[in-house]
Amino acid sequence: MKKILLLLLVVIVSQAGFAENDTIIQRIIDIGKANNQTMQHLDVLCNRFGGRLVGSDAYDNAANWAASKFKEWGMEVELDEVGSVPVGFNRGPWFGRMMGEEAMNLHFVTPSYTSGTKGVQRGHVVAEPKTREEFNRMKGRLKGAWVLVTGKSNGFPIDFSAKADLRRDSIIAANEKTVELNRIQKSKNPKNYTPLETSDEPALFYREMREAGILGIVQSAAVPLVALYDRNNIMDMTFDNLPNTPDIKLDEHQFQLVERMVNERRQVFLEFDIRNFFKPGPVKYHNVIGNIRGTKFPDEYVIMGAHLDAYDAGTGGVDDGSGVTPVMEAARLIMAAGGRPERSILVILFAAEEFGLWGSQHWVDANQDKLPRISNMFNRDSGPLAPVSLGVTEDMWHDMEAVCKPLHGINAEFPFELKKREAMDRPAKPWGTDSGPFAVAGVPVMSFGLEDVRGHNFSYREIWHTERDTYNISIPEYQEHAAIVTAVVVYGVANLDKLLSRDGYFK
Ligand SMILES: [Zn+2]
Repeated sequence: MKKILLLLLVVIVSQAGFAENDTIIQRIIDIGKANNQTMQHLDVLCNRFGGRLVGSDAYDNAANWAASKFKEWGMEVELDEVGSVPVGFNRGPWFGRMMGEEAMNLHFVTPSYTSGTKGVQRGHVVAEPKTREEFNRMKGRLKGAWVLVTGKSNGFPIDFSAKADLRRDSIIAANEKTVELNRIQKSKNPKNYTPLETSDEPALFYREMREAGILGIVQSAAVPLVALYDRNNIMDMTFDNLPNTPDIKLDEHQFQLVERMVNERRQVFLEFDIRNFFKPGPVKYHNVIGNIRGTKFPDEYVIMGAHLDAYDAGTGGVDDGSGVTPVMEAARLIMAAGGRPERSILVILFAAEEFGLWGSQHWVDANQDKLPRISNMFNRDSGPLAPVSLGVTEDMWHDMEAVCKPLHGINAEFPFELKKREAMDRPAKPWGTDSGPFAVAGVPVMSFGLEDVRGHNFSYREIWHTERDTYNISIPEYQEHAAIVTAVVVYGVANLDKLLSRDGYFK
């Protein structure tokens, strides 16, 4: 009899647990529908702070703000120091125009951690010299000129370092040899010789041109414009060796026009005002980690993450504001619903993803002991789309079916589907987002299948790392839905009676 009573008690208690779980989930959905704040978070990130490059005030502001929100919502917070950059960079506005007969505003960007102008700087335009002879012929005219350089911008600046000057010197020397060889061949066999090609290198006489007093260099760039950062030199910059020559990436259509006018030897004047600012470092940067501590298994985890840093020609509305803000809102919904998960839910906003996954790699390296006790790392970094599916293994199916069941009732327009997932190869090297280092370490990194359900014609390629990555590109209904779905699934996984099975996840 005692045994039966005990059994009954166990059943009642565990059902009460289930009922409580269901109530919390329903509350998450209700609050998520009635008062979803995902877009408010995005408004702050993009329009109050702006592009959040590591080393910028905007990044620090965003990190401190996110930490303060986590605290306000009742979570534990940690600013996890990842590293520092020797100098910081803050982007101000930028303007440019062509003067004279073809007067127009110029459409351009400059990579981060490159020089601004010294106020408004107007100058004539020349095409860069490609041989020593050409350089000598025009060196007097380089002073005060904007120089058109060859090649197509890939978003990175021309390398201004002494090391790059040496490389260019060797190209100049090799080209001179080629020209000499061609001359000999031609004199031997003037009718039947094929000249060898010299190699083209943008800003080949960069050091010499700077010494001659150019205002800056201008390179052709495809639209939409991409501006990255000075990857080669950022870690060696000091306040005494900052870059001092503006590196302008100009809309290719305008570049073509300017180039044609220069070739016709017409008078072309360009005027630029570029406010690229530096700050003395070292500037530390941090992952922002919010913890909803588990009531029963505080040392077991479910992680949801996204990267807080963003390029600053745009304001990181999509990459990765569209990941950060639903994840933040999911945490807020869980807290507002009174959620007390059995396992800990870690919300990690990663630093320096754009510099090469520095924040996520740092976390994985520093938390090796936790890695076997993570059910899944949910990362969101591929656009403001609606989560509509999740691929799960055979071994997880039963658990995940129960976890995802409430998703069917959220929004008839966005049905949710569980899919069978085949075992994947465990990657040897991380792929290009923060789930990469986790997967390399053997942590499951299921992420939601995303769709542009309503047909907004969203293209990630068009936005990614470009000037167009701003707040207004985001799609509110998908973003808000993503917050609810993420909250429901993460909370559900955190409350399973065990860690998710890893069997069959990796081959
Ligand atoms: Zn990204």
